[in-house]
Amino acid sequence: MSKAFDLSGRVAIVTGGNGGIGLGMATGLAHAGASVLIAGRNAGKNAAAVKALHKQGAKAAAFEADVTVQAECVALIAAASRQFGRLDILVNNAGINIRKQPQDYTLDEWKTVLDTNLTSAFLCSQAAYPALQKAGGGKIINIGSMLSIFGAAFAGPYGASKGGIVQLSKSLACAWAKDNIQVNAVLPGWIDTELTRRAREDVAGLHERVLARTPAARWGDPADFAGIAVFLACSASDYVTGAAIPVDGGYSTQV
Ligand code: NDP
Repeated sequence: MSKAFDLSGRVAIVTGGNGGIGLGMATGLAHAGASVLIAGRNAGKNAAAVKALHKQGAKAAAFEADVTVQAECVALIAAASRQFGRLDILVNNAGINIRKQPQDYTLDEWKTVLDTNLTSAFLCSQAAYPALQKAGGGKIINIGSMLSIFGAAFAGPYGASKGGIVQLSKSLACAWAKDNIQVNAVLPGWIDTELTRRAREDVAGLHERVLARTPAARWGDPADFAGIAVFLACSASDYVTGAAIPVDGGYSTQV
């Protein structure tokens, strides 16, 4: 492996790293040599993911945290330094969706989606900033969506949160470039995970529409996110910041 892509000695946090895209990214980072702390609310899912990572020889641990709670974001960041001695990479991946027509959301539902998908990324990044400064620089990878670009009738708060992720990434990139911290967003297309398995049940015809519109002619797999995670976490991407990179099999390039 080229040295530029080597993450030996680096420490990463992946929120929502106990499954789906987050676990795909955590696996990629671990294979490149990073120690990985995954965070999620579900202790059983956390333990199963750590077991799977250990089985592959990864240095990994889990921290039970709800990233909608500021104190838990702060505790998560502290746990990385306590467990592995430093922090270099933060992947803000935790996310949910509540699918409804805009007129039907309660304020609580709006807040739950915005807090989970957007405010959490701000809180974890803010909490991580001193540790990244201390490490001499770092990498923040925020997970957007095709809904960062397009609209959908059933995804008002989700789309607002994912549009916000792109703009938050740009502002953090501008503010912290002086600290050698690069901040980028990844915009997944349609990926086969727990989240979209529910969407396929809720939204009639979704599965076929995704296949028809995706030039790669398949749903994405969490393993498709290992490469972009390593690239955006390593020194090969030191001159890439504030970008929003689709990983979508071409979905966003085809009308
Ligand atoms: P999953 O449902 O498989 O994973 C979501 C993860 O987020 C879980 O690990 C979950 O863990 C965690 N999570 C949710 N809420 C919280 C919370 N409050 N605190 C801590 N962790 C939380 O979904 P995906 O892998 O599909 O999604 C990952 C990211 O990718 C999300 O941001 C999603 O919006 C985005 N995305 C996904 C797409 C897809 O097609 N799948 C497309 C575009 C974007 P736990 O339940 O244990 O808390």
